[in-house]
Amino acid sequence: MSSVKVLQNYIDGQFVKTEMLFDDISPVDGSLVAHVCEADKALVDRAVRSAKKALHGVWGGLSVEERCNTLHKVADEIERRFDDFVTAEIADTGKAHAQVKNIDIPRGAANFRFFADLAQNQEQQTFEMTTADGRGATNLIVNKPMGVVAVISPWNLPLLLMTWKVAPALASGNTVVVKPSEETPSTATLLAEVMDAVGMPKGVFNLLHGFGPNSAGAYMVEHPDVNAITFTGESGTGKAIMKNAADDLKPVSFELGGKNAAVIFADADFDTAVAGTVRSAFSNCGQVCLCSERVYVERSIFDKFVGALKEKAQDIRIGKPGDGADMGPLISREHREKVLSYFSLALEEGAILVTGGKVPTFGDDCDNGSFIEPTIWTGLSEDARCVKEEIFGPVCHISPFDSEDEVIRKANDSDYGLAAAIWTTDMDKANRVAKQMEVGICWVNDWFLRDLRTPFGGVKLSGIGREGGIHSLEFYSEPLTICIKH
Ligand code: NAD
Repeated sequence: MSSVKVLQNYIDGQFVKTEMLFDDISPVDGSLVAHVCEADKALVDRAVRSAKKALHGVWGGLSVEERCNTLHKVADEIERRFDDFVTAEIADTGKAHAQVKNIDIPRGAANFRFFADLAQNQEQQTFEMTTADGRGATNLIVNKPMGVVAVISPWNLPLLLMTWKVAPALASGNTVVVKPSEETPSTATLLAEVMDAVGMPKGVFNLLHGFGPNSAGAYMVEHPDVNAITFTGESGTGKAIMKNAADDLKPVSFELGGKNAAVIFADADFDTAVAGTVRSAFSNCGQVCLCSERVYVERSIFDKFVGALKEKAQDIRIGKPGDGADMGPLISREHREKVLSYFSLALEEGAILVTGGKVPTFGDDCDNGSFIEPTIWTGLSEDARCVKEEIFGPVCHISPFDSEDEVIRKANDSDYGLAAAIWTTDMDKANRVAKQMEVGICWVNDWFLRDLRTPFGGVKLSGIGREGGIHSLEFYSEPLTICIKH
């Protein structure tokens, strides 16, 4: 008998196998991580019905304190099984051990604590009003859950991005039906085990495995008893989901793609700006929605900056997560094909290859993985497809600029509007430029620094709505105004 793990769905407090299996493949060496049970339409329906029942059952009857105590237990249990989560996330993604240990899993646990505490401390609004008869009235604003929330998440930060949605949805009293990416089903399955272990009432957290179109993802979106959809993924997928959700006018919260600009002024602390841009271009093998794929550098330091970034990019150690590597593989061979197609296109579009552009070889089983070199181009025009389209790999294009107005115009000349990073020691300039960026978040002299209380999201093709802090609680609840005449 095969000893390969079988990852199951979790519905109404039970793990559920299905006949339809798909493979979870390691991007490190192409080996089989697990077989995954795909949910069909009937199973999606069962999960949604169980979520609906729980909403009106035990979960709906709990006080905010009781609900939030359970969420604290979820965080504690994730931490108790920390090593299992680290191993599972690395098996699916191949990302560097330090990143998973320091960011992905701790943030996954922290999301539950943070949103539980926030929900418990949420202020209740009341408004006193005068009336013509002099007796007055009081308006009470009561935040009610939305109902059954469908959570659909991507593969790049699997546990972190899923819990970023599951935690506030549950803290606000909703029940959830969750679908992780087909590429990264492992930590989601562990999270179901955690929910089970802490005694989460049946039906509050349901997990479905599968794909998008004609599979679990699409069936969830179309289900009439799903009351809201929260999604992180590609902008094109967001459009498809929105179309499918339109018939029921389901509310959506979308965190989508980016083609983010980094702007380096000549007065920036040079070494800090170079180190920051190495992180913002190549972290997680360029597979962070916030990564800088367009780098604009003031002309007087352009050549020096390109040279320094090239040197740092060439120093990045590519390899297996456990071997002290700085950078792991892309998520899959399929994704590598997409990124490589942009590598060819860039040369056709006239790019000068500064470094990278190839598939590295190792002489061992990593040659069966999805590794790729960190890549830098210069020389493309602003309307080149490689400057316009999200590539989602370890690649950036660097171009020079001469004035503040020019770089603001170029940075904003994008269909996307997720994030920007500005590097300068002139704080007046930083303030002036940041305010003109058409994005949801603009960093000054750093990148990927996140305070969970602040709004997070994008403009244009990068998203709809904001999550984070109170903004998440607002999306996951329906305010009811009760107007009481005295
Ligand atoms: P994706 O859109 O391919 O898939 C995301 C999820 O949607 C998966 O679970 C997938 O199965 C599901 N899905 C696909 N088609 C669907 C459909 N028609 N109906 C319902 N579900 C469907 O995205 P990905 O490749 O997993 O992730 C990478 C993308 O995510 C990049 O574009 C990146 O910029 C974006 N992203 C954005 C943020 C953000 O916060 N803005 C964060 C991380 C990733």
